[in-house]
Amino acid sequence: MDDLITKIAAIESRIGAVTVTAKRTRKDITLLAVSKTRSPQRIQQVAETGIKSFGENYVQEALEKISALQHLDIDWHFIGPIQSNKTRQISENFAWVHSVDRVKIAKRLSEQRPLNMEPLNICMQINIDNEPTKSGFSPEQAAAAALEIVALPNLKLRGLMAIPAAQVSIEAQRIPFAKLRLLQDSINRSLDNSEKLDTLSMGMSADLEAAILEQATIIRVGTDIFGPRDNK
Ligand SMILES: *Cc1c(COP(=O)(O)O)cnc(C)c1O
Repeated sequence: MDDLITKIAAIESRIGAVTVTAKRTRKDITLLAVSKTRSPQRIQQVAETGIKSFGENYVQEALEKISALQHLDIDWHFIGPIQSNKTRQISENFAWVHSVDRVKIAKRLSEQRPLNMEPLNICMQINIDNEPTKSGFSPEQAAAAALEIVALPNLKLRGLMAIPAAQVSIEAQRIPFAKLRLLQDSINRSLDNSEKLDTLSMGMSADLEAAILEQATIIRVGTDIFGPRDNK
């Protein structure tokens, strides 16, 4: 628990410093704790420090934790690859999905969203540098896809998400994040006022400063909150 408090204080101090440089407000940035592979006990400890948003990558693993932690007030975000046959479980159990990479997936999520729940918050995953091995809409496809997704009834299209290739310098890290921001500005010009995108999900443990400088509103941090993952 002590190490968690130290780690979260360190993250908060990084966010605080870059927020000042960027002339931004701390409350406009959500720290999403990426909890894949972490136990419910560990997640509960992080939740007790005041973090409310948690990100999961694997449906089955996530459902077990969501059920075990029902007593906590947590917003669950799905951030992993989406198979068509998992959309119902995702749509019924999460508040947000960051990794929508096909219109077909968005349609299924909308059809399967229970009507007694709030609309499902959606980010379109963008393959911002057109990397051949990465999933996501290409920047060129994104605007047309956004127009289809905003029309779906049980979703709320909130913004864009990207996982750029790792770079060492902050200058190099900023380039793809700036591209994502400009893409969002351009999509917003084709949307009605009530539909404008307000979310940029970008930045992880190693590049959160660059992301915040480029107007990230959700940073997704795993390692620097929970410690290294033991990759099975
Ligand atoms: C695992 C993961 C993260 C967190 O990465 P860290 O380097 O551990 O901070 C963020 N986003 C996505 C989509 C992930 O899969």
